[in-house]
Amino acid sequence: MRGSDDARMPRKLRQRLDREPGLKAELEERARESDGQPLCPACGVRPVNHSRTGFCRTCSYRRLSQAYAEREAEEEAAREYRRLKARAKRRTTCRECGVEYSPRLNSEGRVSDRQVCPSCREEEGDG
Ligand SMILES: [Zn+2]
Ligand SMILES: [Zn+2]
Repeated sequence: MRGSDDARMPRKLRQRLDREPGLKAELEERARESDGQPLCPACGVRPVNHSRTGFCRTCSYRRLSQAYAEREAEEEAAREYRRLKARAKRRTTCRECGVEYSPRLNSEGRVSDRQVCPSCREEEGDG
């Protein structure tokens, strides 16, 4: 009986079961817990088995990775926004032509004391 059950298993699975002692019990546990569980609303295929997200584990991990990537993108965008806002606030008047511009910060995070706008700086060269 047991032999014919094993024969129906994919070969790869049988090999893994031989190598990993705890795997069979874990798979049996998974098979049991999927019984009577509602289906995951995200994929509609696997049972809900991640209590905090209400999705199956696969969808939960996918969504967590996605949420992480979105959080990173959001933080990067927020940093960029703060940079631009701070730069827009630092408006100063060019000593050469009197035009208002937003100075960049030097490597020490300070406005260069030359206070020359980009176009005047271009005209005088890099000196
Ligand atoms: Zn799912
Ligand atoms: Zn200027």
